[in-house]
Amino acid sequence: MSPEIQKLDNFRMRAITVLDVKRYSERFSTIYFRDKIVYKSVPGQYVMLWIPGCDEIPLSVSHAEDGLCGVTVKNVGEATSKLCNVCVGEKLGLRGPFGKGFKCIGKRPLIVAGGVGVAGVRLLLYKFIRMSITPTLVFGTRTSEENIFHEEFSKISLKRLINYYPVTEDGSLGERGLASDVAGKLLSSNRFDYVYGCGAEKMLYELFNLVSGKRLGAQFSLERYIKCAVGVCGQCVIGDGLLVCKDGPVFTKSVLKNVKDFGKFSRKASGRRFQI
Ligand SMILES: Cc1cc2nc3c(=O)[nH]c(=O)nc-3n(C[C@H](O)[C@H](O)[C@H](O)COP(=O)(O)OP(=O)(O)OC[C@H]3O[C@@H](n4cnc5c(N)ncnc54)[C@H](O)[C@@H]3O)c2cc1C
Repeated sequence: MSPEIQKLDNFRMRAITVLDVKRYSERFSTIYFRDKIVYKSVPGQYVMLWIPGCDEIPLSVSHAEDGLCGVTVKNVGEATSKLCNVCVGEKLGLRGPFGKGFKCIGKRPLIVAGGVGVAGVRLLLYKFIRMSITPTLVFGTRTSEENIFHEEFSKISLKRLINYYPVTEDGSLGERGLASDVAGKLLSSNRFDYVYGCGAEKMLYELFNLVSGKRLGAQFSLERYIKCAVGVCGQCVIGDGLLVCKDGPVFTKSVLKNVKDFGKFSRKASGRRFQI
C-alpha cells in the first residue's frame, strides 16, 4: 500500500476484536488486537479507541510485536474503566495512529517515565535496543503495584539491554522519591546525550528545567483532552496555537521553551484553562 493511501486509511474508523487482555491489577490492563497500520506506529504515537456506547479516547501504542498491537490502560474514569474490564472477543472502534512520535536521537539516551506514561515510551525503549543502543530508563510510580512492567524491565535489564531505575513515592520498590529527582542525580553525571520524558506534566516540567540549562536535546510527550485527533476541533491547543493531537503529542525542548502553558496550565474537557 502506498504511504499516501496508508495515511488516509489511518483516519478511517476500523472495527477491531480484542484478542487478549493482560490484567496487571484492578486498575491496569493491556489490550491486544491486530491492525496492520497501528503495527507500524512510530514510538510515542497514539490511537483513538472507541468504546461503543461510551466514549472515544486517546491511548499510546504500547505494544507492537509478534503480530499483535497493544494499548496499556489505567482506570481513571468511565471509558478507561470499561477498557480495563473488556473481554476477549469484544469489538471496539479504532482510528490512528496519530500524531508525531519520538525521534530516536542520541547514543546514550535517558528515558524518564511516570505512571501510565510508561505506555508511551515502551516502544521507544525497544527501538533503541534494536539499534544496539542501551537506553537508561527511570520509571517512577506511586507504589510498586503501579510499576506494571517491572518484571519485563528487570528481565531485559539483567540481559544488559537497558539500565533500569525503578522509583516509587512510598519506597516500596527501587529508590524512594520522584522520577525527576532520580533523573536529576543521573543527569549530574553528564553521561547522557539526549533525554525523553512521558508522564504527568509536573514531572515533565521538572525534567525540562533539569535539561534547559544544559546542551542536551530532549523530547517530551504531552497529554491534553483530544477529540478529533486530526487538528480540526482545537480542543487540545497549547500556547499560541500548537495542537497536541497533530503537532504533538511529542514536542522538543526547543519548541516547549516558547509554550507559555507548558507545566503551568492545562484544559478541562470543556476547554476551560486551569492551573496545573
Ligand atoms: C496522546 C495521549 C496518550 C495517552 N495515552 C494513554 C495511555 O497509554 N494509557 C492511559 O491509560 N491513558 C492515556 N492517556 C490518557 C487517557 O486518554 C485518559 O485517561 C482517558 O481519556 C480518560 O477517560 P475516562 O473516560 O476514563 O476518564 P474521564 O472521566 O474522562 O476523566 C477522568 C480523569 O482524568 C482526567 N483526564 C481525562 N482525560 C485526560 C487527558 N487527555 N489529559 C489530561 N487529563 C485527562 C480528567 O480530567 C479526570 O480527572 C493518553 C492521553 C493522550 C492525550
